[in-house]
Amino acid sequence: MAELDITRLREDTPGCTHVTHLNNAGAGLMPRPVLEETKGMLDLEATIGGYEAAAAWGDKLEHTYDAIAKLINAEHREEIAVIENATRAFDMAFYSIDFKPGDKILTSVSEYASNVISYLQVCKRTGAELVVVHNDEHGQMSIEALKTMMDEDVRLISLSHIPTNGGLVQPVQEIGEVARQADVLYMVDACQSVGQVPVDVQEIGCDFLAATSRKYLRGPRGSGFLYVNKSVIADLEPVLLDLHAATWVAPDRYEIREDARRFENWETNFAGKVGLGVACDYAMEVGIEAGSERLRTLAATLRSEIESLPGGKTHDLGLVKGGIVTFTVEGLDPDEIVAAWAEEKINANTSGTRSTRFDMEQRGLEKMVRASVHYYNTEDEIEKAVGIIDGMLSR
Ligand SMILES: *Cc1c(COP(=O)(O)O)cnc(C)c1O
Repeated sequence: MAELDITRLREDTPGCTHVTHLNNAGAGLMPRPVLEETKGMLDLEATIGGYEAAAAWGDKLEHTYDAIAKLINAEHREEIAVIENATRAFDMAFYSIDFKPGDKILTSVSEYASNVISYLQVCKRTGAELVVVHNDEHGQMSIEALKTMMDEDVRLISLSHIPTNGGLVQPVQEIGEVARQADVLYMVDACQSVGQVPVDVQEIGCDFLAATSRKYLRGPRGSGFLYVNKSVIADLEPVLLDLHAATWVAPDRYEIREDARRFENWETNFAGKVGLGVACDYAMEVGIEAGSERLRTLAATLRSEIESLPGGKTHDLGLVKGGIVTFTVEGLDPDEIVAAWAEEKINANTSGTRSTRFDMEQRGLEKMVRASVHYYNTEDEIEKAVGIIDGMLSR
């Protein structure tokens, strides 16, 4: 494991002096360079004017596309669109697919609510059908099952790389091989995985990938991005268009941009866009592999400490587990644990049925504590968090 300078990384993170942050799956703490550049853009807008600031920092705004492309190993910067969050990024691609009656959308058991709501709406409108591919014995999408479900009606395979409710890391590369072999569209929701584990769109072989800035990437809120493989951009007319995505070239005619920015819209959070680029740079500077290894080690420590508590049970699925730790403790309400942590300035969250209904219902779970660790967390922080639960148990 490449050595990370944790002291320096924590000094670089103003939030670390105020809180123990185990809510990185909600929003990670911004490092100083991200914060400064994001604020810098806002300051500039206030000082010289918004349009003038965009012109003055045009290079930084454009750099964001290069930084995202590099982070996810996209072949071309033209494959990147900056969109205000992962959900809209996902929607812009998904709603633009012209589903026909009988088309099938294959997804995973651990799919995120917003995505499923979109699938259901589109199925209702178009007569397409949503099919959930069952899990294998490890709790990840079964590649065997997926293969047997591939028929000529399958139009799209779409799933979350890492679900919102746990440590599961889906085998997106193997799924990608199946998608390519069958020549169907393949969409990956990388909202939790970007910044948490290596994400390489060429290795995954996806047509679309959506992510947000604020989670494991540690960027500012209100920005995100969409990757669209060059080979499918031209075939996909965005469901919404404006004068940025297209040009009004004659009274009765418009022409759509040729790059992935056809999925963007004109007005956007420019400070967020600058900050997103800096967050990508920062993640690469820290080192995705090294950061990922450390956060996964910390998560494993947290899991084993929770498991050693009386009645403590972790619920994370999959062969390879990431940084999101979900658990319950017999006799304690998950909200009670989060509240007790909050009193000690430990940030965490709960995850419930409404976010991942297929999975939670299948496992008979209603609510779990979700403690999501990042590389800048420490063993001491984990000890402290677990110690509080221990104290609650011995009351
Ligand atoms: C948070 C999350 C989203 C939504 O991201 P937004 O940026 O809030 O739109 C999508 N998918 C998963 C798996 C998530 O955890």
